[in-house]
Amino acid sequence: MPSKRRNNGRNKKNKGHSDTVRCTNCGRVVSKDKAIKRFQQRNMVDASSKRDIQENYAYNTADFQMPKIYVKLSYCVSCAIHARIVRVRSVEDRKKRYTTRLRQHVRQENQTGNASLPLSQLPRA
Ligand SMILES: [Zn+2]
Repeated sequence: MPSKRRNNGRNKKNKGHSDTVRCTNCGRVVSKDKAIKRFQQRNMVDASSKRDIQENYAYNTADFQMPKIYVKLSYCVSCAIHARIVRVRSVEDRKKRYTTRLRQHVRQENQTGNASLPLSQLPRA
């Protein structure tokens, strides 16, 4: 039977079963290898509030460090498409592999075959 994607939309390799996670948006149970995962780092407060806090900081302002929020988000496919985190791609574009990891010391000329591209290099649909 023809398959829409080479990996059937999953990243299961040969493991048989993978753990499940809950979708951040709707709570749907989705397998961990299928879920669309994004790591989000953001500031707790906006820039103007941060400045106010920094000005009223009791200790040495050189040591001032505002804590950040670090969250790992995982979405089911429906929510990821609805929220435009991923988009539907054409049959040809589905062949392109991508990664969300930023690699700094990989030479373009040394990449072979169907190497996965960073998400930023992938043309937006
Ligand atoms: Zn969802």
